[in-house]
Formats: sequence, structure tokens, C-alpha cells
Amino acid sequence: MRYHLPRRYSRRLLVLGAGVVGLTTALVARRRGFEVTVVADRYAPHVTSATAAALWEWPVADARAKEWAALSYRIFNDMAADPLTGVAMRPSLSYQRVPIDANPEALAGMTELRAHVRGFRHDSTLIAVHGVRGDVTDAYEYLAPMVDTDRYLAWLLREVRSAGCEVEVALIRGKLTDEQDRLLRRYDATAIVNCTGLGAIELAADPDLRPLRGASVHLRNPGIGCAHRVDGLSIVPRARDRVVLGGIVESDRWTTDLTMKSHQILELVARCRIFLPTLREAQPVPGNPVRSGLRPHRDRGVRVEVERGCPIVHNFGHGDTGFTVSWGCAEDAVDLVDKLG
Ligand SMILES: Cc1cc2nc3c(=O)[nH]c(=O)nc-3n(C[C@H](O)[C@H](O)[C@H](O)COP(=O)(O)OP(=O)(O)OC[C@H]3O[C@@H](n4cnc5c(N)ncnc54)[C@H](O)[C@@H]3O)c2cc1C
Repeated sequence: MRYHLPRRYSRRLLVLGAGVVGLTTALVARRRGFEVTVVADRYAPHVTSATAAALWEWPVADARAKEWAALSYRIFNDMAADPLTGVAMRPSLSYQRVPIDANPEALAGMTELRAHVRGFRHDSTLIAVHGVRGDVTDAYEYLAPMVDTDRYLAWLLREVRSAGCEVEVALIRGKLTDEQDRLLRRYDATAIVNCTGLGAIELAADPDLRPLRGASVHLRNPGIGCAHRVDGLSIVPRARDRVVLGGIVESDRWTTDLTMKSHQILELVARCRIFLPTLREAQPVPGNPVRSGLRPHRDRGVRVEVERGCPIVHNFGHGDTGFTVSWGCAEDAVDLVDKLG
């Protein structure tokens, strides 16, 4: 990757957070000519981003999220040409209980989606082709970005470093509006981008932000080459050796101690095995097959905005879309920094 940087940098950014959102934002800012310092108390694998199934999905939320997702799709699509990034484009199948034509909301979502993706096909015979079970009657597929979080977060950090960003481990305490002068001085920065996920509960004093606990279960891949989604369940192939199951959403739980013996995990695995019988013999990967994480959920949606009257741009609250919208949010956050002057 080549960086077209101006010869002199007039602006220096402090990016807080080193999950997918912080690292993507740092990289975008650096590519656009900022000097960047990344500060976070945790890096992969100790961030929520490392626990995600990391499948790109069309957001049902607001128009802004759709634009972010569409831009991110195009960028991931290009990145998939380089296997070192950990991004792959594979078919993703979505199954419905009622025919889509009889469900105006699902039909509208599908119609929007097909304008932004490659390889779209609406065809109920896909159900038989893939041998899925349950009372589904309709299906469509398209090529979707699927991210190997371990490789991708490592790749992002390498890119950030090799592009010349400073990277530091530190915990920031207090409200950013109170701490901004000290931080700007300490890091010799002219603006701060807050990409701290749930950390923004404290740093941005945002009452709207809360955890939605989830978990991904990593099984040995019995040969599944496509993602399958139904009723909130997702089954996502990762590299050649594993398949990642997801579908747990628990409100306001702050612990991340789920294991293969937890009832939620047993239930998730059982549901996935019923739906896709190929999974029946698939065993958990050795080591750490369950990764539980806390989605930074915000009822009012992702917050990409300037803190009024301050040189602070927020980029947090991505809930279950952090990968899907990462590049679009990063571009918008850096646009906002640009406008700070
Ligand atoms: C089980 C599960 C499955 C998911 N599946 C998908 C999916 O398929 N597709 C998708 O798009 N998304 C998915 N997500 C959502 C996605 O993982 C999140 O939206 C995303 O990881 C949020 O990224 P982030 O960088 O904001 O947060 P994080 O990854 O949590 O990173 C936050 C960073 O901020 C730092 N930080 C926080 N507070 C402070 C502080 N006070 N001082 C210094 N540093 C601080 C942390 O150390 C960390 O580096 C899933 C999530 C889960 C849990």
C-alpha cells in the first residue's frame, strides 16, 4: 500500500482505541496525511473486535449506516485480493420462513442490498442445494466479506505501524471533555478521535451506550464454504480450518466467561447443528473455542460526531456492525476532524 502524504503535517491526531474501529480510523487518518498516535489499554486478542463472527451484513438501521456499509463493502472487496489481510469474499446465504415477496420489509431490505453487492441470486432452490433444515421457504445469496479477526486485526496494526503511526498502551480515565487539554498536550495532538467502544460510557459520558453480550463458537470446519444466516443465527466459515457460529445476544451482561458448557453455548451449537446437519460431527477447535464479547450497543445508533465545542470526534457505539461499517465510519470521522480546521 502506498501513502500519498503531504510533505509537512500540520495536524496531529490522538486516536483512542485499538479495536477494529480505532485501527481503521488511525489508518484512514494517516493515509490522509495526519500524524497519528494510537492509545489503548487493550489490543487484540483482548478486544471485543477479536470475538466477532465478522461477517459483513446489510444494516437494517439508518441511511448513514447503509452508506458506511456500502463503502466498507467495496474496500473489503478490494482487500480480499491480498490473503494476508485476512479478508475473504464468499457466498453468504440468507434464509426466510415466509417467501420474501410476501414480506414487504424483507423484500425492501433485499432490494436495497442487491444494488451494493456482487453475485446476488434470489432462489428458493438454494435451500435444497445446501441441505439446510427447518421450515424455511425462501433464500438469497450474495458475495460477502468475511473477516478472520485474528489475521485482520494483526494486519491492521502492522499497517498502522508501518504507515508511521505511534502506538502506545495506556488507560485513559475521566471524561474527555475534562481531560482534553491534558491529553492534547501529552500527545502533542490537535484533535482526539474517540474509538473506545464501551469505554465511551466513561470517556464520553454517554448514557445511551451499553453492552450486548455475545459469543462466537469456533468449530473445526467440516467443509462449509458459505455463510448461512437464519433467525439471528450465523454460521461463518473462517480460513480453511474453522467455522464460527454466532447468535447470542444478552442485554447488560458484563462478564465474558461463557464456555462450551454454558447453557447458551450448548443451545447455540444445537440449533446450528439442527439447521445445518453438516455441522453434526464438527468438534470445537482446541484451545479457546468460545470467544465471548460485549457489543458496544447504542440505542440511538452509531455515534460519529463532534463533541460540541471541543476538538473531539466520537466514533463508537457500533453494536453488532463494527466490521460491516468500519471503513465508512472511519472516513466520516476523519472528515469531521478535517472540518475542525
Ligand atoms: C459475538 C460477536 C459477534 C459479532 N459479529 C459481528 C459481525 O458478524 N459483523 C460485524 O460487523 N460486527 C460483529 N460484531 C460487533 C463488532 O465486534 C463490534 O461492533 C466491534 O468489535 C466494535 O469495535 P470497537 O473497535 O468499537 O471496540 P473494541 O474492539 O471493544 O475496542 C475498543 C478499544 O478501546 C480501548 N479502550 C476502551 N476504553 C479505553 C480507555 N478508557 N482507555 C484506553 N483505551 C480504551 C480498548 O482497549 C480497545 O482497544 C460482533 C460482536 C460480538 C461480540
